Amino acid sequence: MKRRPSTWWLVFAALWTASVFALDGVLHDHRVLPILVVVPVIALATQFEPRVVVAVSAFDLALTTALGLLDPDVTASRLIATLLVIIMIGGLSAWVSTLRTRLEVALLLARHDASHDPLTGLHNRRAIDSAASALVRDHRSAVTVAMADVDHFKWVNDAHGHAIGDEVLVEVGQRLRASLRVDDLVGRYGGEEFLLILRGDVEHTRDVVKRVVETVRASPVTTSVGAIDVRISLGVSGVNGDGLEEAIHHADEAMYRSKAEGRDRVTVWG
Ligand code: GH3
Ligand code: MG
Ligand code: MG
Repeated sequence: MKRRPSTWWLVFAALWTASVFALDGVLHDHRVLPILVVVPVIALATQFEPRVVVAVSAFDLALTTALGLLDPDVTASRLIATLLVIIMIGGLSAWVSTLRTRLEVALLLARHDASHDPLTGLHNRRAIDSAASALVRDHRSAVTVAMADVDHFKWVNDAHGHAIGDEVLVEVGQRLRASLRVDDLVGRYGGEEFLLILRGDVEHTRDVVKRVVETVRASPVTTSVGAIDVRISLGVSGVNGDGLEEAIHHADEAMYRSKAEGRDRVTVWG
């Protein structure tokens, strides 16, 4: 993952600069200054990679010790002070590194949660909308949208309970995903409605759309209370001059026509 500058760098740099000047003042020895500057520079350059910072710190300590031993005015307290500061840097860099890893993981999870439906694991409405917009903006190929709605889904909830309804939705989501091509998209648009974004015009996506309905119908969904037959109705519309929003609206209208004409079928708008 790409690492970016963080507030920790600035806090670290500020604390470090302050401590170097304090130490320098106490020791009345300006030679310590350039040596101690090496560690934070490396820490910043490697973004607190603990192994590198500890290795550089150890080298720094050895150098400071050697200079100290060569210096007739050396005092044990100077070496101890340097050692303590270096241990502090090692600990700080390890701590910052742990924090950074935790933040990166939290950020990844938050990004995933913000764009995915927790039940089906598919894109949520916002994510599928923005992915579709990006695809349409891209203009590289025609785009067709299809709205899919589970038939008589309320009956599943009423007959078996909400939890079984959830199991059916998860399986329907998986069947939709499995019946699409790799670069088609599917997201959960609302309760038991799914939006499909297909590459190609209505004519070229006819087979895919047909396969979607057939795959859901092909075998009953296995749930904790047994097998349940599930069907979906689809409405399809090509995205043309009117734009994406209008196409989704048309697909929705076509889907309701599928419902009116007996469900378990595909209707192309217009
Ligand atoms: P139609 O064939 O006309 O689409 O009938 P339907 O019963 O599928 O449609 P209706 O809109 O009457 O009912 C949809 C139901 O979906 C009602 C709602 O409680 C249920 N539902 C919406 N979201 C969820 C969910 O996340 N889990 C479960 N279990 N049910 C949900
Ligand atoms: Mg519905
Ligand atoms: Mg329904």
